[in-house]
Amino acid sequence: MSKAKRHIETEAIRTQLKRTEFLEHTSPLYLTSSFVFEDAEDMRASFTEEKERNIYSRFTNPNTSEFVDKVCQMEGAESGYAFATGMAAIYSTFAALLKSGDHIVSARSVFGSTHTLFTKYFPKWHIETTYFDVNKPETIEACITENTKILYAETPTNPAVDIIDLDLLGRIAKTHNLILIIDNCFATPYLQQPMKQGAHLVIHSATKLIDGQGRVLGGITVGNTDLIREIYLFARNTGPALSPFNAWTLSKSLETLAVRVDKHCDNALKVAEFLENHPKVNWVKYPFLKSHPQYKVAKKQMKLGGNIVAFEVKGGIEAGRQFLNQLKMCSLSANLGDTRTIVTHPASTTHSKLSEADRLEVSITDGLVRISVGLEHAEDIILDLEQALK
Ligand SMILES: *Cc1c(COP(=O)(O)O)cnc(C)c1O
Repeated sequence: MSKAKRHIETEAIRTQLKRTEFLEHTSPLYLTSSFVFEDAEDMRASFTEEKERNIYSRFTNPNTSEFVDKVCQMEGAESGYAFATGMAAIYSTFAALLKSGDHIVSARSVFGSTHTLFTKYFPKWHIETTYFDVNKPETIEACITENTKILYAETPTNPAVDIIDLDLLGRIAKTHNLILIIDNCFATPYLQQPMKQGAHLVIHSATKLIDGQGRVLGGITVGNTDLIREIYLFARNTGPALSPFNAWTLSKSLETLAVRVDKHCDNALKVAEFLENHPKVNWVKYPFLKSHPQYKVAKKQMKLGGNIVAFEVKGGIEAGRQFLNQLKMCSLSANLGDTRTIVTHPASTTHSKLSEADRLEVSITDGLVRISVGLEHAEDIILDLEQALK
């Protein structure tokens, strides 16, 4: 069977380093900072890149290469580079591709630290960002200027679980000759592969569902070879590389991504349906609930609805805080995509520094609660939510 025809689940398991003389079944961990050269000629050819080989683990390492190869196979991307964290991937991708005077058009609802990069740090280098409202996609094109180089979005968004039409973003990027970059963290390469809709680069925080077990941090950017080459050269010289141990862990994690995400999504749908019928809940947002404003788009571009459910408890900011305090099993934690269900209240925590008006611009109402639905039995998750709502 030709390799190109294999399914994502198979690639996540069978994309593997060449076996050593020991014929190990699982790839070994290459905890080595550098690699040796056979002679001066080998060294010369390696440094001039006439030979493709490992030199130093800040550049490449067998474990990070295996992890990158897997994600490329799953996303349908040509090449990639793995980073120590998702933010290192996001920062390095922008820093490698942009110069002073360039302009970014981004969805307003992006991960908090990404927002901080755009508003606090990039302007220092005269890189400005214009935000569009994810629920008004017809306004995107008006944000584009002569200097716009990158179109950027996450879908589903954090924490409001809005959905952006990837086909539309792909068309806009093509018409205006922009680099389309998608943070695919919430969907994972199992549920959605934005390269198919015309993304040039796809970024993940591997810390979330890719590890999925709350153990290691990691990040990755995959996409077109010419762009990845620029990102690789930037990273090779600035040092945000993923550690071999974390790469080994993440590569093993990918082997179970599909079964884990299937179960996460199954549980999340059950939780969303429970909340939708609860009298103390104003509204629930989950991409695969018919009541989601972008339900049709979600169905078109995602295999399943993901593991994040957003809802609003009646009674505003105080009710949201109280709900969190009443939970007995679900964790209050900053992570998401873990085996353990995690509940957060953005208005009193992650987004508390924003004014209410600014929060509303990214769909965060005072009573909004975000649940990262875990892998516990759905009935136990629902029981905990139910007693806390009481
Ligand atoms: C967590 C997260 C990031 C940042 O990833 P880290 O691994 O924590 O640096 C970026 N984007 C999204 C959507 C995230 O959820």
